[in-house]
Amino acid sequence: MREVKAEQIKETIKDLFLKANFEIGSDVLEMLKERKEKEKSEIGQAVLSQIIENDIIASNEKIAMCQDTGYAVVFVELGQEVAIVDGDFNEAINQGVREAYDEGYLRKSVVEEPLFERKNTKDNTPAIVHLDIVPGDKIKIAVTPKGFGSENMSALKMLKPADGIQGVHDFVVETVEKAGPNPCPPIVVGVGIGGTVEKAALIAKKCLLRAVDVHNSDERYARLERAMLEDINKLGIGPAGLGGITTALSVNIEFAPTHIAGLPVVVNICCHAARHAEAII
Ligand code: SF4
Repeated sequence: MREVKAEQIKETIKDLFLKANFEIGSDVLEMLKERKEKEKSEIGQAVLSQIIENDIIASNEKIAMCQDTGYAVVFVELGQEVAIVDGDFNEAINQGVREAYDEGYLRKSVVEEPLFERKNTKDNTPAIVHLDIVPGDKIKIAVTPKGFGSENMSALKMLKPADGIQGVHDFVVETVEKAGPNPCPPIVVGVGIGGTVEKAALIAKKCLLRAVDVHNSDERYARLERAMLEDINKLGIGPAGLGGITTALSVNIEFAPTHIAGLPVVVNICCHAARHAEAII
């Protein structure tokens, strides 16, 4: 059994949230530049230039790329041959979040209860942790600070199997159309197809961590990603919702086995601040 100290997990989480909030991924930055060259709207081009400039300043000066520094979402793949010692696993994650948001001057955006008093927890905890036990003796940690302008525009539909490919395609494009400028386009569209309600939502969120220039390895789903992206970019919403052909940078689909009677689909939208970072311990 390999031992990993809780302190090391805390430090890793802290570093990852700082990195994710300060440094946009090179895949997103390159795609923004590529789309700026292709954008036909002058205002759209200007918005993309500002987003690119903003991302470069944030990275160079180590400041948050957006004032909404997000809900701390953490995906952990924990090797079954790892023992976590000298501390509590969940507390290590929350302490890492606490220290990152404090030291990085990142906005604390979590309320402890959603309906009545909505008091801020003041340290951006608790994190949302998704844990998978996997073979091996490593721990893979991926974090995403999730902005809520885009999270609020997400949607679920329990389609019928007979709705088929067209039904899924139309639901995804309609969800983006309804969202309009609210999710801070250009967006990344995560689509979870199959499973149950919660599984579809989970894989929709997880596939937002995939690089924007990588398609699903199953060519059928990759084709659907390209077709949806093309139709989304015909909607005319454009960068910041001010018009143009760059409404989305990518559509990322993940799928899972599902019940014979169902076709669950979840659309989880991410804004242009498509932040994520990962590490292996
Ligand atoms: S949706 Fe994204 S870009 Fe818009 S305010 Fe929130 S984090 Fe920032």
